[in-house]
Amino acid sequence: MIFNQVLRRTCLQKRTIASLSALSETHQMLRKTCRDFADGELKPVASKCDREHLYPEAQIKQMGELGLMAMCVPEELGGTGLDYLAYAIAMEEISRGCASAGVIMSVNNSLYLGPILKWGTPKQKETFIKPFTKGTKVGCFALSEPGNGSDAGAAATTATLQGDQFVLNGTKSWITNGAESEAVVLFATTDKSLKHKGISTFLVPKPMKGLEVGKKEDKLGIRASSTCALFFEDCKIDKANILGEPGYGFKIAMKALDQGRVGIASQALGIAQSSLEVAVEYASKRLSFGKSLLKFQTIQNKLAEMALRLESARLLTWRAAWLEDKGMPFTKEAAMAKLAASEAATFLSHQCIQILGGMGYVSDMTAERHYRDARITEIYEGTSEIQRLVIATNLIKEMGF
Ligand SMILES: Cc1cc2nc3c(=O)[nH]c(=O)nc-3n(C[C@H](O)[C@H](O)[C@H](O)COP(=O)(O)OP(=O)(O)OC[C@H]3O[C@@H](n4cnc5c(N)ncnc54)[C@H](O)[C@@H]3O)c2cc1C
Repeated sequence: MIFNQVLRRTCLQKRTIASLSALSETHQMLRKTCRDFADGELKPVASKCDREHLYPEAQIKQMGELGLMAMCVPEELGGTGLDYLAYAIAMEEISRGCASAGVIMSVNNSLYLGPILKWGTPKQKETFIKPFTKGTKVGCFALSEPGNGSDAGAAATTATLQGDQFVLNGTKSWITNGAESEAVVLFATTDKSLKHKGISTFLVPKPMKGLEVGKKEDKLGIRASSTCALFFEDCKIDKANILGEPGYGFKIAMKALDQGRVGIASQALGIAQSSLEVAVEYASKRLSFGKSLLKFQTIQNKLAEMALRLESARLLTWRAAWLEDKGMPFTKEAAMAKLAASEAATFLSHQCIQILGGMGYVSDMTAERHYRDARITEIYEGTSEIQRLVIATNLIKEMGF
């Protein structure tokens, strides 16, 4: 598609990143392209995909053609070579149209491609990045297990070296893209006695003998994206499929999650933005006591609070992406962005239903889907409690205590 080429060229020419209050022309152009795509291609199918648990295959391929499935991967590896601010902007706009398409995109970009780009060998990049840049294949990230989610360092899945192969045994749970993915970034322990320092990362092609995919979870929201358990039973992979150094797995996971949190914050912004739009649109048309809902101060106060929380969270999200682009530490800022944006999405989608009254409670309107979709952003890639822990730990360290 033309967009991919034009955008890549202009973005590379105009590397200057906008101040937080005014985006560069290039980022604005990206925003408009993604917004138009969301309005034209995602919104019309989002409700059906949600209702029927349908993976939006055609739309993900289109997103690949637009360059959205490997946004920060360099061109020579098949990606679009854009910056992280561009990624945050695109993720918000896509999620505004369909939050499920948003998470499929986020996992492929941040959690799957991100660590391989940073830690992979040239051969691993050739095999596990290039075919996953166009939306025709997606990857997944398998960290959580039935016995540990927040405590990610307690991985019980094992990787045992036998000759030239690692033998994998264990269960990973809640894996986004679990059904469709054709490769896994997997975390398993090579030495349990070392706790989180014994965890390593592996690249597992899928399908693979010894790897079974569980049923699709029947979820509250983001129902068009699959979430499945992965069962490893004597699954043998080549020794060369270890990603990074042995024992670096926990570090790799935490770095990937920093970037992932900017993606999920942006997903939450998209849900929140759409909730605000739905609320204003409905309130402008609905008459009560002979006048438009928009004329009531109580409704205006709700809208003001919604806009305030949304824009505050957006600034935090863009700041985290901007820091990442500058190569500066952004762990605390990514956690702040995710916490603020996910809580904003929950608040805005709740208020949206309130403004719509009865119409907010039925599936004819998108308000109820936004309410269900928003909830997950406070749970995955670290719950809100864990984000507060990350913020406080970093804050205390920064303050010299
Ligand atoms: C739809 C969906 C998609 C997902 N996708 C993926 C994926 O692609 N890959 C992947 O690896 N995982 C994935 N996950 C897993 C997700 O990251 C975990 O569910 C999440 O990290 C929470 O872990 P848990 O469910 O085990 O909850 P627990 O860790 O058991 O936490 C339960 C509650 O206790 C609180 N809690 C736990 N520890 C502390 C603490 N130290 N201090 C304060 N409170 C605490 C939590 O905040 C939470 O409120 C997904 C989950 C869902 C639901």
